[in-house]
Amino acid sequence: MNTAFERSLQSEIEKLKAAGTYKTLRHLTTPMAPEVHMEEAGDVIVLSSNNYLGLSDEAAVIEAGKRGLDTYGAGTASVRFICGTFDIHRQLEDRIAQFLRTEASLTYVSCWNANTGLFPTICDTGSAIISDELNHASIIDGCRLASKSRRERYKHSDMRDLEEKLKAVQGSAPVLIVTDGVFSMEGSLAKLPEIVELAKKYNAVTVVDDSHGTGVMGKTGRGTIEHFGLDGQVDIITGTLGKALGGAAGGFVAGSHALIDTLIQRSRPQLFSNALPATVACSSLEAIDYLDEHPELVGRLRDNTRYFREKLVALGFKPLEGDSAIVPIIVGETSFAIAMSDRLLKRGVFVTGFGFPVVPEGTARIRVQISAKLTTDEMDRALAAFAGVGKEVGLI
Ligand SMILES: *Cc1c(COP(=O)(O)O)cnc(C)c1O
Repeated sequence: MNTAFERSLQSEIEKLKAAGTYKTLRHLTTPMAPEVHMEEAGDVIVLSSNNYLGLSDEAAVIEAGKRGLDTYGAGTASVRFICGTFDIHRQLEDRIAQFLRTEASLTYVSCWNANTGLFPTICDTGSAIISDELNHASIIDGCRLASKSRRERYKHSDMRDLEEKLKAVQGSAPVLIVTDGVFSMEGSLAKLPEIVELAKKYNAVTVVDDSHGTGVMGKTGRGTIEHFGLDGQVDIITGTLGKALGGAAGGFVAGSHALIDTLIQRSRPQLFSNALPATVACSSLEAIDYLDEHPELVGRLRDNTRYFREKLVALGFKPLEGDSAIVPIIVGETSFAIAMSDRLLKRGVFVTGFGFPVVPEGTARIRVQISAKLTTDEMDRALAAFAGVGKEVGLI
C-alpha cells in the first residue's frame, strides 16, 4: 500500500466534507418506484429518478427480463463480433429504429458507452464537432476521444454563436452539430428546428442525444424530435435505455444503415467490450412495446409535471421554465443545495441537490424529476415537505 497516495486521496475527500459538497450514497431496498424504502431514511417519495414512466417497476417489463434470463442465460461471455450477439439484440435494435423512425440502430451497454463509441469512430482528421457547452459529460468525453477532429463549443442554445462556429470550421468534413435533446440540469429543450436549419445551410450532420427526451417528449414519447415534428431531419440520435425505457442500463445509436454498419465495424466498445446483457435487451424491448401500448403514460407524465410545477410556483418557489419532466429550482451555493436536499429527506422526500462541478458555481439546484406513476397524494405530500423546508431555509 502506497501510504502517501492514500493520504493524498483522503485529504481531498476531507476537503469535500469541509466544503459541504461531499456526496453520500443512499441505499434502497425496494424497486425504483414513486415510493421506496431507504436504509438511511425509511419510506420516502422519490423525486430524483429518471423513471419517468414508472417502467422499471412494471410487471410486464420485469417478466420479460426473467424470460430473458431463462432463454439466454447470464450472458454472452464475448464481444459481439466474436460470438456475443443474440437474436434478441437484433430484435431490440430493429425495434429502436422503428420506434425512432430511423433506418437502423445499435445498442451499447450504456449511452455513455454509445457516445464515447460514436464520435471517435466517425470523426477523423479533417472533421469538426461543434458541441453545446452544456452537453452531457458523456458527449464531452466522446468528443475528447475524437482527438483528430477539430472541436468547438458554442454557447448554450445560442444559435448566433453556433452559426459563427459553423462559419469558422467551413472546409471541414464532416461537420457535426451535437446537442442534448433535453438538457438534464436545466430541463430545457435544444432549439432543434433552428439547429436543423443551420445544419442544412452549412451542410452539417446533426447529432441529438435524447436520453432525457425519449419516453418523455412528443405525443407518443418518441422524444424531442417528435415534439418539434422533425422526424427524419436529424441524422444521428443517441439515447439511453436506463431512464424512461425500463431503467436498467443500455444505450444506443440510431441512424442510417451505413452509420450503424460503420459502428459495427469500427466502434471500439463494439469491438473490445461485451454486449448489452440479453436480460436487459429483453426488458428494454418490452418497455418500448409497453410504451407504445400505453401512450396515456406520456400524457399523465405531462399532467403530473404541470401540477407539480404550478404548486411549486404557488408556494413561492421559482423553478426554471421548461417543457420536460425536469423541474430545477436554483438555490445558489452547492452546500446549500445539499443541505436542503438533506432536510427534504428528513421529511420523506428524496430529491438530489446538484452543485459544482456538475453545474456552474453559484447555480446549485434542487432538481425535481416527475414520474407518470406519482399519485396526486404523493405529490401533495412532497409539496408539503417543500413548503416546510423552503420556509426553514428562507427560500420562500
Ligand atoms: C443519462 C445520460 C447519459 C448516460 O446514460 P447511461 O445510459 O446511464 O450511460 C448520456 N447522455 C445524456 C444526455 C444523459 O442524460
